[in-house]
Amino acid sequence: MNFNYTEEQLMLKESVRKFSENEIAPLVKWMETEKRTPWDLIKKIKDLGWCGIQYPEKYGGSGNTYVEYVIMQIEMARVYCSTACTISVNGMLGANIMKFATEEQKMKFLPEHLNGDGIGSFAFTEASTGSDPNALRTTCVRDGDEWVINGEKVFITNASLPGLMGIFCKDVEMGGKCTNILIPKGIKGYSIPRIYDKMGMHGLEVCDVLLDNVRVPYENTTGGEAMRGKGFEVLLGSTQIGKLSVCAQAVGMAQAALEAAVKYSKERVQRGKPIAYFPTIQSLIGDMATDVMVAHQAVLATAFKASEGKELASDAARTRLFTSEAVHRVASKAMQVMGAYSYTTEFPIERIFRDAKLTEIYEGVNEIQRLIAAADLLR
Ligand SMILES: Cc1cc2nc3c(=O)[nH]c(=O)nc-3n(C[C@H](O)[C@H](O)[C@H](O)COP(=O)(O)OP(=O)(O)OC[C@H]3O[C@@H](n4cnc5c(N)ncnc54)[C@H](O)[C@@H]3O)c2cc1C
Repeated sequence: MNFNYTEEQLMLKESVRKFSENEIAPLVKWMETEKRTPWDLIKKIKDLGWCGIQYPEKYGGSGNTYVEYVIMQIEMARVYCSTACTISVNGMLGANIMKFATEEQKMKFLPEHLNGDGIGSFAFTEASTGSDPNALRTTCVRDGDEWVINGEKVFITNASLPGLMGIFCKDVEMGGKCTNILIPKGIKGYSIPRIYDKMGMHGLEVCDVLLDNVRVPYENTTGGEAMRGKGFEVLLGSTQIGKLSVCAQAVGMAQAALEAAVKYSKERVQRGKPIAYFPTIQSLIGDMATDVMVAHQAVLATAFKASEGKELASDAARTRLFTSEAVHRVASKAMQVMGAYSYTTEFPIERIFRDAKLTEIYEGVNEIQRLIAAADLLR
């Protein structure tokens, strides 16, 4: 067992950190105001190969593992979580294709998905499905060589941007079983009636999607005939990777909050000395540093397991539960350290506090993660 980063991993960490500080940070104010991500930024990240980090070279990836993937996600989220998340949703659709598509589909879709002019979406949620997969209403009906898709998805990230979408449908001929289909966004019958105005994660474009007689080739069924009606397998397998991304984002934000609080505590003077001298501040920072350390180690261990292709359900749920609650605690304590200024937009901590809340909600609420975390023990 080796807990050290390799030379290559250290170089990756350094280059993502530099890129995030030099290229993402200056755009944050704009993204927070305009509530979107400039396409040029996504393109730059794609050109650096970071959308393909965890995929084999033969599919257009860089042949690394999920450990490198989480290193990239942590560093990006440390600067701006919305950008990390825009990229990670692409990664979740990539996991969908990589784990479940046929070899032919991987060769056809992955190189463009990882390197081309688009960013992926993963469309499961509907008005009634939230935490209840059986409430799926969007239908797919086979018509000769095509699928005809009808329905409405809600809260779909990146849906306003071009690229591929993996969509979960009720397969009418299969008695309503779930089937996953790959569709190009923006095709005839595809529209986005709403882009959400959110509490945080302002750089992330999250939309409702209307599907009105959308037609795609039948051969776009993820995994082909063998996977028809097995959409829930696709959902569970892909969201484990989605959860890993959320964990990495939580660690990146927690790290940023800790760094901000430490810096502030050394600079802010009260009663003639920096507040870092007060035991109450030391205690807050001690708690925060502990959460950051444990969360960081947990996410790397889960990423290592993901890279080995091991079953991830319990680990992903437990790591997600811990890291999301850890970043919540850390962001809140950082605000206590930084007092009134933390509540202003002069410091990034108020944004981190808002963005961090999402890690307890999306990719399955924490109440559901608790159930998954206990499931294998109670079987
Ligand atoms: C910014 C953002 C981006 C998103 N991006 C995507 C995306 O790209 N693709 C996508 O498909 N979805 C996406 N989502 C949707 C997200 O994954 C769902 O919102 C999430 O799974 C929770 O569903 P819900 O909000 O409908 O909660 P509900 O299911 O309505 O749950 C509400 C509350 O009820 C409780 N609860 C519900 N069911 C149970 C249960 N079985 N046991 C115990 N308690 C329960 C929990 O406390 C839960 O918090 C996104 C959401 C947001 C906010």
